[in-house]
Amino acid sequence: MDRPSPRVVVVGAGFGGIAVAAELLRHGMDDVTLLEAAPEPGGTWHHNRYPGAACDVPSHLYSYSFAQRASWAHVFSHQDEILRYARETADALGITPRIVTDTTVTSCTWDDSTRTWTVRGSGREWVADAVVLATGQLDKPAYPAVAGLPDFAGRSFHSARWDHDYDLRGKRVAVIGTGASATQLVPEIAPLVDHLTVFQRTGNWFLPRKDRPMPAALDRLLRRPWARRAWRKLLYHGIELITLCVRHPRTAGRVGTLLSAAHMRRQLPDRELRRRVWPDYPFGCKRVLLSSDFLPALRRPNVELVTERIARMTPEGPLTEDGRLHEVDCVIHATGFRTNTFMLPMSVTGRDGRTIEEDWTKGPRAHLGIMVSGFPSLFLMYGPNTNTSGGSILFFLEAQAAYVRRALQLARRSGAAALDVRPEVQEAGLDALRARFEGTAWMSCSSWYRTPDGRNVANWPGYMGEYADRTRRPAASEFRFIPSR
Ligand code: NAP
Repeated sequence: MDRPSPRVVVVGAGFGGIAVAAELLRHGMDDVTLLEAAPEPGGTWHHNRYPGAACDVPSHLYSYSFAQRASWAHVFSHQDEILRYARETADALGITPRIVTDTTVTSCTWDDSTRTWTVRGSGREWVADAVVLATGQLDKPAYPAVAGLPDFAGRSFHSARWDHDYDLRGKRVAVIGTGASATQLVPEIAPLVDHLTVFQRTGNWFLPRKDRPMPAALDRLLRRPWARRAWRKLLYHGIELITLCVRHPRTAGRVGTLLSAAHMRRQLPDRELRRRVWPDYPFGCKRVLLSSDFLPALRRPNVELVTERIARMTPEGPLTEDGRLHEVDCVIHATGFRTNTFMLPMSVTGRDGRTIEEDWTKGPRAHLGIMVSGFPSLFLMYGPNTNTSGGSILFFLEAQAAYVRRALQLARRSGAAALDVRPEVQEAGLDALRARFEGTAWMSCSSWYRTPDGRNVANWPGYMGEYADRTRRPAASEFRFIPSR
């Protein structure tokens, strides 16, 4: 690279895109362009605007270390405040003018003759020395695999594409799914609607999360930077305890189970309802849900929990396997996302015309979740095996952003045009990763973390600190350097 700065195209201006742009700009690499499909930055926080949308990681930890806020309105921030924070951070760090909005990238193609990437989308084209795909794991809404879904004659929408023009007041509403999104939206809409039917396929483990404004005394204290640093540390170590429980289901996991069970018993005095809500898999296998108001909402007289499977959708509403028709005006799909596909169906073509899709026929895989061998100077943010069951994803994103920056510096120092992770390094890392999942709670049920053949391709199998250690120093020996032409 003989330019003063590599030309870097970042696909996605959510928290991952902003993290990597901030890191590059801070280190003098200022030829950065972010391509964003939405009309504004913010990623998941732009799309997920369902009532009650909030983060279940405390605000002081769900924020960048390099852009700490003196004050947050809530202990667990609401969607609007997080989206505002994303916008303000992008503005403050000079990222906003580099974002090209309303641009959906459809392909990234490596050209070996020029040692560059061509990124195409929305009728335009960009040439780059490096590409960062920051499209996330949870951006494509998934709908339930239920026959006759389009037959429903009423209104229906996905939790991540909330229809704010539809007034739910006085309506008969069905919510399909009881994951993290449903857990947040059900308590909000239950008091508005005439009747709410919640369709649960699998029960969940819950821990308390009281949504409350930031206590004034704590807010005053946390305005001091030293107190904020200490608070973040405390939250960081506190939240790692969830990973401890997942990693050690027979010891720490037992404590997690007991705490969760006590919380759930307190919230559900009715034995029958409790029996139907109770999960049938070990604590931590699926995401542990943090909520203090979802289970009480199920006790409302206008709310019914249905655990019978939906046989098919009819024009009037879901028909369950017991032959019961649940007539509703509106169906809300809180059924999560098409995970495990990451940036696909975007076409990504690397060396020798190989596509990521071909490379991933047996499931997504990447070195530290960031690089894929055969795709030089292509980086992923929040890639395979970098999700966390307990920690803050922003911690992972910052580690990835630093890795991208260091790798690009390494290429520059070596006088190379690009760098490609060696296949044997990637394979050895993946073998170690797979081994680290053995004996953990993650492997004891099916979840969105796993492929149909049972591999966990979403989560990092360890603690946040381990990930930071593994990504801190990309070594020259891990790469093949591609000389300039
Ligand atoms: P999710 O966790 O994948 O939950 C989807 C729900 O839909 C599950 O309960 C699933 O049941 C159910 N479902 C799917 N098909 C169904 C069918 N045919 N009939 C009945 N139920 C069906 O999706 P999500 O709640 O949107 O959350 C996705 C992820 O987003 C979370 O794990 C988390 O990482 C993130 N998130 C985070 C926050 C936060 O506060 N930080 C908030 C929301 C979301 P099964 O369990 O049986 O599959």
